[in-house]
Amino acid sequence: MVGLSVTGSSQAVCLQGVSKVFHSAGQDFTALKDIQIEIPSGEFVCVLGRSGSGKSTLMNMITGIDKPTAGEVIVHGVSVGGMSEDEMARWRGRNLGIVFQFYQLLPVFSLLENVMLPMQLAGKYEPLERVQRARMLLTQVGLADQADQRPDSVSGGEQQCAAVARALANDPPIIVADEPTGNLDSVSAGMVFEVFAALAQQGKTIIMVTHDDDLAAEAHRTLRLSDGELERDAVKS
Ligand code: ADP
Ligand code: MG
Repeated sequence: MVGLSVTGSSQAVCLQGVSKVFHSAGQDFTALKDIQIEIPSGEFVCVLGRSGSGKSTLMNMITGIDKPTAGEVIVHGVSVGGMSEDEMARWRGRNLGIVFQFYQLLPVFSLLENVMLPMQLAGKYEPLERVQRARMLLTQVGLADQADQRPDSVSGGEQQCAAVARALANDPPIIVADEPTGNLDSVSAGMVFEVFAALAQQGKTIIMVTHDDDLAAEAHRTLRLSDGELERDAVKS
């Protein structure tokens, strides 16, 4: 990836001593142990690690979907744990774009309508602007011609690109993606990865879980989790 650079120096995401213990069937299981991470704005970070190493738990800490047992998560200066559920939902809708492994597009809506939905939910942009913006975002991810198709009439890679466009709907500074290429063939995975790389180049902060070491090697930085611990934090020189 040529010309990739981190813009600005402000911290997008900061995890301070984050631990997570799950209690199930009368037993404690430590999924994250004292995680310390600072991610500057505009950085493209890939999170690696075996299944069960705590990657999704880490993502859920950053998005506020789950709360740490100890420690603090700060996103653009806001302490995620300090918000009520309502505040958190509003904050998440405006500040984070979330992409899932299985796209989770609504099947009865066109790709365009799927991308418009978060804007409608957040009450952002005027109705006409929402349509224009959704078309612009679909164009940005290479789906200008498929905007009016339903999800099941395009490929998995195209559905995931549409999900990325949807994640961008409210122009969030940070995109969090948990194994977005996990269900895709290598060509589609590469296509989705390039969309993320282009977004990082535009200044978005990208935090992406992947199993693919080759793709991860293209990011600015890789974090490797092992049994809930940050085993390795490597910045590309
Ligand atoms: P990864 O995404 O790296 O595959 P996860 O973060 O999903 O790993 O899970 C890390 C560990 O925490 C796993 O051993 C998993 O079984 C456990 N875990 C995750 N969520 C829960 C939960 N809600 N209750 C109990 N254990 C959980
Ligand atoms: Mg996972």
